[in-house]
This record gives sequence, C-alpha cells and structure tokens, in this order.
Amino acid sequence: MSDWTLGAVRARGLQLEASCKTESCRRFFVFDLDRLVDQVGADYLIADIPDLTCEACGGPLKIELAMLHPESGGD
Ligand SMILES: [Zn+2]
Repeated sequence: MSDWTLGAVRARGLQLEASCKTESCRRFFVFDLDRLVDQVGADYLIADIPDLTCEACGGPLKIELAMLHPESGGD
C-alpha cells in the first residue's frame, strides 16, 4: 500500500478510510478523494499522509484502503 498514490486509489475505485484505534471509540472516517486530489494532487503518496488523530477522542487513526468492489484472491 505504500506505493499507492491518491490518483491510483481513485482510478481503481477504491476508498480511503481511517479508523480510530481507540477501543472505546472506533470512530470511522472516509476521505473525500476528489477533494484531497484537489488539495495535494493525484501524485500524492498515501504513505506520505501525516499521522492523523481522531477528532472525537484524540487517539491515533489508522489509514487503510477499502475495496468497493471485492475481488477474490490475495496480493
Ligand atoms: Zn477516537
């Protein structure tokens, strides 16, 4: 996932999400890809997104890619 850019995520129809690591919170966010690309550009690496904190509890967020159309197989 470290080589992914915002443009590649969007082109594949994937979703960029963040979930709170705090057990009692588990807040869930979905990034607005179009807006992000507007702000930082399509070549921006997912890995370069700075550490984010949960706006509800202040805990760390975990960023992940989500498949909107599940495919079988790994890798
Ligand atoms: Zn939280």
